[in-house]
Amino acid sequence: MKFQDYLYERPNVDLLKENLMNLTKKVENAKSFEEVDQAIQEYILLDNEYSSMATLVSIRNSINTQDEFYEKEQEFFDTVGPELSEYYQNFNLALYNSSFRDELVKKYGSKVFREIELELKTFKPEIIEDLQLENKLTTKYDKLKASAQIEFDGKVLPLPGLSVYLQDKDRNIRKSAEDAVCGFYLEHEAEFDEIYDELVKVRTKIAKKLGFENFVELGYYRMGRTDYDSKMVEKYRDQIKSCVVPLVSKIYNLQSERIGIKDLKSYDLNLTYLNGNPMPLGTTAEKVKNAKKMYHELSKETGEFFDFMTEHELFDLDSKKGKAGGGYCTYIPKWRSPFIFSNFNNTAGDIDVLTHEAGHAFQVYSSRDAILPNYLWPTMESCEIHSMSMEFFTYPWMNLFFKDVDKRIYAHLTDSIIFLPYGVTVDEFQHVVYSKPEMTIDERKQAWREIERKYMPFKIYENDLLERGGWWYRQGHIFSSPFYYIDYTLAQVCAHQFFVKDMENHEKAWSEYHHLCKLGGSKTFLELLKEANLENPFEDGSLTKTMNKLEEWIDNFDKTKLN
Ligand SMILES: [Zn+2]
Repeated sequence: MKFQDYLYERPNVDLLKENLMNLTKKVENAKSFEEVDQAIQEYILLDNEYSSMATLVSIRNSINTQDEFYEKEQEFFDTVGPELSEYYQNFNLALYNSSFRDELVKKYGSKVFREIELELKTFKPEIIEDLQLENKLTTKYDKLKASAQIEFDGKVLPLPGLSVYLQDKDRNIRKSAEDAVCGFYLEHEAEFDEIYDELVKVRTKIAKKLGFENFVELGYYRMGRTDYDSKMVEKYRDQIKSCVVPLVSKIYNLQSERIGIKDLKSYDLNLTYLNGNPMPLGTTAEKVKNAKKMYHELSKETGEFFDFMTEHELFDLDSKKGKAGGGYCTYIPKWRSPFIFSNFNNTAGDIDVLTHEAGHAFQVYSSRDAILPNYLWPTMESCEIHSMSMEFFTYPWMNLFFKDVDKRIYAHLTDSIIFLPYGVTVDEFQHVVYSKPEMTIDERKQAWREIERKYMPFKIYENDLLERGGWWYRQGHIFSSPFYYIDYTLAQVCAHQFFVKDMENHEKAWSEYHHLCKLGGSKTFLELLKEANLENPFEDGSLTKTMNKLEEWIDNFDKTKLN
């Protein structure tokens, strides 16, 4: 059966609520472990059906936002979702309090109970109104950013439309593009400051109502983190400072020589090569055909996986009218199908979809036999290990996708290192802000600029707003997903380990990676690292070995291939 034939039927929500209530009672009144277990099995079937319908709607709505049928169905799920959460929570609570907990842990592991515990810590009905305000403010931020109409090069462009000018070969164009982007943020500076100030205040209020000192600890719990805290993350950031920042400076020095600019300014950092970034080869159909060849050669499992994706047509890759922006990977349990959504635009980003998003899809395909729906995907920092590592595992096949394959690989690897100091800057800023919510708007900007200087000394600004500490307005996660950003960096340093392992012993690296994918979300971040023989990035000195190997790789790279 193909994706288009997956049949959608609107769930009967009243019946679902009744069934969930009955199952909750069944757990509460159970006389044996078998009765509880039976209730869990019935719960899984109900949840699979409901979440499959919700996912089908969200995919089809994003593929064509102008399709009225699926737009209505999306509205339906947006309304019933919050109503149902109470029923789901009651079921979870009954499980949590079950007198058969020991047997349940034996069969299902303890992770699910730790997750329920977090749910209880992060929610009370008293905060519903504050949560609604939080949502409203993040939507306001998204709308404000999307409203940008920037006049440039004789055109009127939205913010993403400027990205090609920010990488232009002509230095003057790059500088004016940076000023044009900042012009938009400068014009709306007071609005961005106000939205963020209100967000910090309402999140702090929520934290206090739930009994926390400030929002920091709650932010960690909201991310589902059970095995590391802000102290450990602080130490990890120190390692990035001592061990990655010097390497990034070296990468920029090499770039400075390559592009012939001695005094690199912030607007020069995007110009990796004088003659432009490598572009991918072929049409979408050819890219998919090459991806198929690549995944068949990479391993038996990836070959099977990719055949499954193409047979069931579980992709919607090309950008088209009415399609939502961005890209994602999701999963439809009823048909045991991952799904990849993207907007190909004939840049290197298209190939990132076929490696990164396919890495996510391969993971969930590998863990589709998970014993509980909660165990399909792990927490975010672990999810990104699968996708980012797949980008590295597929290096040997990049010649199928790029003519300038050396340039592509060098830029991809160095970009993944350059990202780390920026990622921890975003993270440290949020720790400072939420631990001192009374800071003024100006103090926040100063704090940003100070942190930026610490981790990114190579960022030399000529624009006044940036020099005053206004870069972070553009980083959506700071507004909508507090404390999320560090996850990308944690995953990246783990993916770097896989890159190094893969160079040393491909068979071993691949089998450890596949093992990690199969585990899905059955374990926490640190438990998963152990299973996959990965170094724990919170341990002192853990980054040194990998970063040394990456530096060696850069040193040995034949730079004449980059001209
Ligand atoms: Zn991802």
